[in-house]
Amino acid sequence: MQACIFCKIVAGEIPATVIERDDDVIVITDVNPQAPTHLLVMPVQHFANLNAFAEGANDIVVAHLFAVAARLGASAGKESADSPGGYRLVVNTGANGGQTVAHLHVHVLAGRHMTWPPG
Ligand code: AMP
Ligand code: ZN
Repeated sequence: MQACIFCKIVAGEIPATVIERDDDVIVITDVNPQAPTHLLVMPVQHFANLNAFAEGANDIVVAHLFAVAARLGASAGKESADSPGGYRLVVNTGANGGQTVAHLHVHVLAGRHMTWPPG
């Protein structure tokens, strides 16, 4: 996807702070962080959002995406003397879901208390 900003990050065509990457998933820091830790976990392959998956067809990619997100969330949101710990994963999907970049990504938010309901 030539016009996709996250595909350009995957390709190294625009800069980003890359936390880790493997063959299937890349993790970057969000440029406009909404919490002390705000990471974006995305597939290397372009998928517009969760609706782009036929159930069953890419389950391994989806599972890997969430496994990486959960590991990083648990690490960043570890319980300490100062914090009870915890984290939030968010996948905004479509316009009403608040999605602004059409390349699937899981937000990993940690380091502060999250409120509910979301806005
Ligand atoms: P969403 O609104 O769920 O589609 O999330 C898109 C996220 O991507 C927002 O939190 C933006 O701050 C973030 N973002 C947009 N452009 C970049 C970029 N070049 N590098 C890192 N994060 C970005
Ligand atoms: Zn893309």
